[in-house]
Amino acid sequence: MKPEVEQFNLAESLVRGHLRDIPRQVRCADCLARELHLPPSDVGPILAALADRQPPFAAGRCGCGVTGLMYC
Ligand SMILES: [Zn+2]
Repeated sequence: MKPEVEQFNLAESLVRGHLRDIPRQVRCADCLARELHLPPSDVGPILAALADRQPPFAAGRCGCGVTGLMYC
């Protein structure tokens, strides 16, 4: 597996795990990146990939007013 793919999978599992820990709370890419200490440019594509794979992820509005995802 290519290193950038492994990196993506690691970041993706962090994002998935974090959303699962806060069910029904919407997080946008920027807020997730801040909470997980990941680059926002990494989190954006991950959220997009998870949104395509819903459920269990559903779109919603983050506390900061931007569209994001929640686990439900
Ligand atoms: Zn936000």
